[in-house]
Amino acid sequence: MQELSHYINGAHVKGTSGRFADVFNPATGEVQAKVPLANDAEMEQAIAAAQAAQPAWAAVNPQRRARVMMKFVDLLNRDMDKLAEALSREHGKTIPDAKGDVVRGLEVVEFCIGAPHHLKGEFTDSAGPGIDMYSMKQPLGVTAGITPFNFPAMIPMWMFAPAIVCGNAFILKPSERDPSVPLMLAELLEEAGLPKGILQVVNGDKAAVDAILHNDVIQSVGFVGSTPIAEYIYATGCANGKRVQCFGGAKNHMIIMPDADMDQAADALVGAGYGAAGERCMAISVAVPVGDETADRLIEKLIPRVEALKVGPYTAGDDVDYGPVVTAAAKANIERLVQTGIDQGAKLVVDGRNFNLQGYEDGFFVGAHLFDNVTKDMDIYKHEIFGPVLSTVRAQSYEEAIGLAMDHEYGNGTAIFTRDGDAARDFANRINIGMVGVNVPIPVPLAYHTFGGWKKSMFGDLNQHGPDSFKFYTRTKTVTSRWPSGIKEGGEFSIPVME
Ligand code: NAD
Repeated sequence: MQELSHYINGAHVKGTSGRFADVFNPATGEVQAKVPLANDAEMEQAIAAAQAAQPAWAAVNPQRRARVMMKFVDLLNRDMDKLAEALSREHGKTIPDAKGDVVRGLEVVEFCIGAPHHLKGEFTDSAGPGIDMYSMKQPLGVTAGITPFNFPAMIPMWMFAPAIVCGNAFILKPSERDPSVPLMLAELLEEAGLPKGILQVVNGDKAAVDAILHNDVIQSVGFVGSTPIAEYIYATGCANGKRVQCFGGAKNHMIIMPDADMDQAADALVGAGYGAAGERCMAISVAVPVGDETADRLIEKLIPRVEALKVGPYTAGDDVDYGPVVTAAAKANIERLVQTGIDQGAKLVVDGRNFNLQGYEDGFFVGAHLFDNVTKDMDIYKHEIFGPVLSTVRAQSYEEAIGLAMDHEYGNGTAIFTRDGDAARDFANRINIGMVGVNVPIPVPLAYHTFGGWKKSMFGDLNQHGPDSFKFYTRTKTVTSRWPSGIKEGGEFSIPVME
């Protein structure tokens, strides 16, 4: 049995806590490795190494820090196949989707190459007699991030690339379900020239997270995962005086107007609803056709598409639409929620129960499900399922459709499919959701924009990547300097006002 490690101060370090978690191959259901779960002492060792290394890294000029990121991009491309294979083996997603996971992270690394520009401060010449005023964006020191299982390459890179290029050290506590790719990323970044101790990977569970939250050296915490944990980390981190941003769960609605191209909408829904087995925070999990006639046309188009979805292991090649879900517990939770949908009166028009894949009977595969006639009070509507289950809620008007999305507690992403520019503009303006697609089902912003939901999908003030990330990972210092000899004329006792 392979025993994974931590990556502390430039070296793979075995776990010493005696506690481990199983890392599964979701396609076969086998335990393929065990990952150590850090205790306080291991976390403190990493934090001490980060604290020792960070000042010298912050003193490296921003251009040189950016060059490490340039080299890192080359190495990610060099090792793309290896990374994707390791990612699929632990997560279960298809190889093309795993490459997308790496590429969407790599794009943020590319954005970070622009650090010298983003870190420039402001300057006012002659703000007063002999007075100049300027601001600096300085690193925070030692920062940390806690990431989910569903994007084990992308989300760590969204956090550590901006943190590090700003001159911080970063402690990554990845998901214990798929920790191998984060460890590989740390090795690659050192190969790219990053000094030891600046990026460390400490594996673990709640104990490791709590060690981060209660350590005074840690200046900021980034979190991506489910909403209850996001709320806990936000509250605890803030109470301990840290800068915190937490991104939580989702229930993304796609509104289909009567004038939409129904084939385009159905294709979009199938990709966005079932891709990655629905384990994406930007997956569409609720389709809201406007009017019964639209709903009937949509369902008619969806059924054959959903029934034709090919479910299989990543090793089956490109001819698989989605793979298994991450654990047996995730599978059981999806099956439980599907049963509540049936019990509470939704109509299961594509029944993925009893899905069986020959030769992979112990894998965590879930067949594709499509529900019609879902209502607001049902559990499958209220809760995030995080599986290949699409719910259709029929709305009788545009106002009812937009109201559904606005009333839902989550506010990560949403989309409208229409040919009517007026409806699309109104939707984009009024909706209380952070990321909006117009005829685009998964509107994940590109690296140079920012990513973040609203409502219970986000706790904090600044989004991930884009310009916000440079704000999150730096603090501003403003200097007022005067060089004439006026200071010899005696003290001033009223608050200075520029002449
Ligand atoms: P999770 O909340 O179970 O775990 C996320 C991280 O928190 C992991 O590193 C885990 O070890 C840690 N953790 C788990 N329990 C903890 C506890 N009690 N105390 C402290 N830390 C704990 O989430 P997951 O299952 O890995 O990921 C799926 C969730 O993430 C979904 O809800 C999904 O919507 C969400 N997600 C959100 C975004 C976003 O940007 N909004 C992106 C990706 C995933």
